[in-house]
Amino acid sequence: MNAPHQLPRKLRVATTSLSGCFGCHMSLLDIDERLLELAHLVEFDRSPITDIKHCGPCDIGLVEGGVCNAENVHVLRELRANCKVLVALGACAVNGGLPAQRNNVDVNKCLTQVYRNADGVVQVPNDPELPLLLDKVYPINEIVRVDYFLPGCPPSGDTIWKFLTDLLTGRTPRIEHPLLKFD
Ligand code: SF4
Repeated sequence: MNAPHQLPRKLRVATTSLSGCFGCHMSLLDIDERLLELAHLVEFDRSPITDIKHCGPCDIGLVEGGVCNAENVHVLRELRANCKVLVALGACAVNGGLPAQRNNVDVNKCLTQVYRNADGVVQVPNDPELPLLLDKVYPINEIVRVDYFLPGCPPSGDTIWKFLTDLLTGRTPRIEHPLLKFD
């Protein structure tokens, strides 16, 4: 087994936020000075922290957020097709998270309520550029196959670091108390 600094080549990592709040990405940045070590180990493909528009062949894909609209489905399938290992990062990707509370409301009623102005006029945006909402918010494993689930809202920086260093060095990721949490 290689120590992280002995990896034969840099691994390629893609990340994305679907129906997420970017909190899981903020938590990734919370590994603080270990970001420098991470930069030695991996290079980033498509990610909010790069300017790459489409995912190319990658070793690891980290997915934040559940799936709430048609664009989310497209992006998620692109990551799955290109990443050897796909990770559901955080509660939203694992089980839909708080955004899935909207699953208790009919989506059309929800839109009508939100886009009703003070005069009672409803104008739901319908530009074809806008992705259509799905009937529900789905966890990512209901759309594609997922290799690992990392719970937490968000998982802490320490948890993400433990998970990544296990994965990068060829160990089966193992997260134990107190790093494992669901809130
Ligand atoms: S799991 Fe929590 S922190 Fe991560 S995207 Fe969802 S709401 Fe944000």
